[in-house]
Amino acid sequence: MQLTDPITILSGVGPKTAAALADLKITTIKSLLFYFPFRYDDLKSRPLAELVDQEKALFKGTVISPPVISRFGPHKIRLSVRLLIDQVAVIVSFFNQPWLKDKFEPDEEVAVYGKWNLTKKSVVGMKVITAATKNELDPIYSVNKNIRQKKLVSLIQEAYDQYHDLLPDVIPTTVRSHYRLLNDQELVRQMHFPKNQTESLQARRSAIFREFFLFELQIESLRVQNHNSDTGLQLNYDLGALKEFIQTLPFELTAAQKRVVNEICADLKDAHHMNRLLQGDVGSGKTVVAAIAMFAAVTAGFQAALMVPTEILAEQHYQKLTKLFAPLHVRVSLLTGSLKTAARNQVLTEVATGRTNIIIGTQALIQTGITYKNLGFAVIDEQHRFGVNQRRALREKGPNPDILAMTATPIPRTLAITTYGEMDISTIDELPAGRRPIQTSWLKINQANEAFAFTQRQLAAGDQAFVVAPLVSESDQVSLKNAEDLYQRLQKYFGSQTSVALLHGQMPTAEKEATMAAFTQGKIRVLVATTVVEVGVDVPEANVMIIYNADRFGLATLHQLRGRVGRGQRQAFCFLIADPQNEVAVKRMEIMTQTNDGFVLAEADLKLRGQGDIFGDKQSGIPEFRLGDPVANNNILLTARLEVQAIFKEDPKLTQTTHYELAQYLQQQQAADNFD
Ligand code: ADP
Ligand code: MG
Repeated sequence: MQLTDPITILSGVGPKTAAALADLKITTIKSLLFYFPFRYDDLKSRPLAELVDQEKALFKGTVISPPVISRFGPHKIRLSVRLLIDQVAVIVSFFNQPWLKDKFEPDEEVAVYGKWNLTKKSVVGMKVITAATKNELDPIYSVNKNIRQKKLVSLIQEAYDQYHDLLPDVIPTTVRSHYRLLNDQELVRQMHFPKNQTESLQARRSAIFREFFLFELQIESLRVQNHNSDTGLQLNYDLGALKEFIQTLPFELTAAQKRVVNEICADLKDAHHMNRLLQGDVGSGKTVVAAIAMFAAVTAGFQAALMVPTEILAEQHYQKLTKLFAPLHVRVSLLTGSLKTAARNQVLTEVATGRTNIIIGTQALIQTGITYKNLGFAVIDEQHRFGVNQRRALREKGPNPDILAMTATPIPRTLAITTYGEMDISTIDELPAGRRPIQTSWLKINQANEAFAFTQRQLAAGDQAFVVAPLVSESDQVSLKNAEDLYQRLQKYFGSQTSVALLHGQMPTAEKEATMAAFTQGKIRVLVATTVVEVGVDVPEANVMIIYNADRFGLATLHQLRGRVGRGQRQAFCFLIADPQNEVAVKRMEIMTQTNDGFVLAEADLKLRGQGDIFGDKQSGIPEFRLGDPVANNNILLTARLEVQAIFKEDPKLTQTTHYELAQYLQQQQAADNFD
């Protein structure tokens, strides 16, 4: 018997139930035992007089008249029964559960869980509680339609009875007793079957700590591996050539850019494996930093790669870097999914033979068919768009190449150290000189023409404009229609002397590239686009950004979109066109008009998240936890991290007997490859 036994070992788990459980990611006894309820119904009975209107509670009483069934409407059936509770006659009604009538025999004691209506002195029943439910709290699990609560509870009970002795204590005893946390056996029991509120809260606190602790354990072990491994590459770059290259740039690097270049170059030269996150607000100039570092790797005799999330961005980087490197005889190649076979084969050969020095591309860079001659350095742009596995795959394309991940989605410091703990962090905390804050205004949809009129004046002065229409997904036909309508409306509005174009993800690649190129060259003045332009796109002459239905985007996305303008010397403007439907969305619009600072926005984003705004989660770059909330439970997260660090400091390889379970846990995680 082992905790890794398949779930089918339990009685009554056939293929159908197993499939339903698999949908909940329950496959083994262990995953079943750690599948915790998301809330509990409080089954403690309380005096009627204490209850407030609509409060959910347990109602215990005596049946004083037999249940009555009545129908109303085509599909509604009501079952009503009169109970004597605390000397008060109370009517309890259940809807569409006529079979419950057998549970109510006159003069019998019953217990019902339901919602109290104070004015009518009645109850809408939710379930009948049988004597078998001994605990005060009834756990409620998230389930699907192929598995019922009851079934899940009985499986958990069965698994617990048979296997609980096998649950090891993963968290070392010293840590556990210091924070008065439950061991795993108690934790599992009290999460599923708490006798009372106190047990439940205690279990939850322990479970959150455990979740954060094990997360940090993985992050820290990666970091320790990176720092200890002497298997990292030493890139002995040509300092003179590098300095010359920096001299040829059309601008002077900002102090922050210089600082991060130094940090990165020191890592390249060092024998330990580099795993660095470069944070910098939109427009802070991360690309040139990456270019300098890639050039350094090339002068050291290695290849460098730059992986980006979209083809448009790959194409843009390719154009810029080709131009930048042409005088230096550095050969740059582009690899995207849409290359024709012949062109693709040529690129693959050049990369494999080492003819290509720098390769730029989308996820195509990590496909199995591609081999590198000697990849020494890899950059991942907009890294929050990639999963850990993709980052790892890129790393495996070379002899442990150094990695630089770049992001414009800043994570507030308290979270950054805990969630990116395995990376060293460099931050560009200033914008190139002369940049003026983008002036942002919010207009209602019926005021949109004001933004268009303003844009027309700016166009006359030489500016270009983006108009972004939201698209839920790139395959969303309804919104695509909206973008097309908007495009036609603007064509009419600006007249034939202004070239307006439409850009969306479903267009053929060649057409997308041609449109983008024409916009970059200024031939197209107004680009109506879906969020394909969201990340990275850099067109310095574009100084007006109109975001239509802006309330449908999260703060991180809005900030990214706005960051497409204000990249040159002229004043840039952003218009949010929106009729937000709720208070949180109104706040999002207001905050956008108040600040241009990505860090301030990230903090605000977290606050709104705390108020239930889950917009743009995939953008915010914060990993998802099952129980703990890294914002609300930040103290626990920080504490768990400190404890993990102390352990690695004392015992980096986790060889001490007290750390045996931790080492085991890590081994299992790596084998399962489900770190993320
Ligand atoms: P991001 O950090 O958002 O990726 P980019 O690398 O695209 O920003 O840079 C934004 C713009 O700023 C580009 O047009 C780039 O050429 C320009 N730029 C970068 N560094 C400087 C600098 N030190 N001085 C002036 N302009 C710069
Ligand atoms: Mg960029």
